[in-house]
Amino acid sequence: MTGDADADAGAAGVSDVVPPLRLAEVTKRYEGGGGTVTALSDVDFAVGTGEVVAVVGPSGSGKSTMLNLLGLLDDPTEGRVELHGEPVAGRSERERTDVRRETIGFVFQDFHLIPTLSAVENVRLPTAFLPADATDRAVDLLERVGLGERLEHTPDELSGGQKQRVAIARSLINEPDVLLADEPTGNLDRDTGVSVLEEVRAIAAGGVGVVAVTHDDLVTEYADRTVELVDGVLRDA
Ligand code: ADP
Ligand code: MG
Repeated sequence: MTGDADADAGAAGVSDVVPPLRLAEVTKRYEGGGGTVTALSDVDFAVGTGEVVAVVGPSGSGKSTMLNLLGLLDDPTEGRVELHGEPVAGRSERERTDVRRETIGFVFQDFHLIPTLSAVENVRLPTAFLPADATDRAVDLLERVGLGERLEHTPDELSGGQKQRVAIARSLINEPDVLLADEPTGNLDRDTGVSVLEEVRAIAAGGVGVVAVTHDDLVTEYADRTVELVDGVLRDA
């Protein structure tokens, strides 16, 4: 959290080069029966290549909304989402799906693995509709996250930490520039969380920007910087 390396990573990500993913002056409002909720208010945020950013904040502060916007799963009411400096608005749903698949990996608290598929099959699943067979790459990724001995195991034959490693390997199968993680250690004990976070750091070192929404102080320890959402307003933590 402190030290020159962290400061450099933040600076390189935000100001020196075009970041892979950015929210520019983003406001998000939801209209509902009870009136209007402003979930995000004038948020400026960028994740840099190789940087791990933790996003913290109380329940209802806008964390999921922010992750959905970063993941191109929703549109801001005002402001822009930019991918490598290019606004996402105006792209067709098809283009958006393609660009999401090529650019962004997702990791979830509850892993989202298919129970009937082996580790290798889960990891290569995002490539199922592509012509080239990704089995070799899936095996490489599983070896890289330390699961070379568990390739044919199904999720119920794996521990929580192993399941999260499979999910991380799957998130990398299309070589994303950015990894978005929603409570990645939420279902893991501390030691397992440490090993998963060490994996995340290694992935970032390989040139991926990571944004992790979290309640877990452990994640903020592994982050280059932490930002905090309070009532939809983002500030450095
Ligand atoms: P967090 O993930 O930090 O708990 P959210 O982003 O889920 O926060 O929610 C931020 C605010 O926006 C909350 O007040 C929530 O009730 C509201 N909200 C979230 N999604 C919707 C939606 N689809 N429709 C209406 N209000 C929503
Ligand atoms: Mg949430």
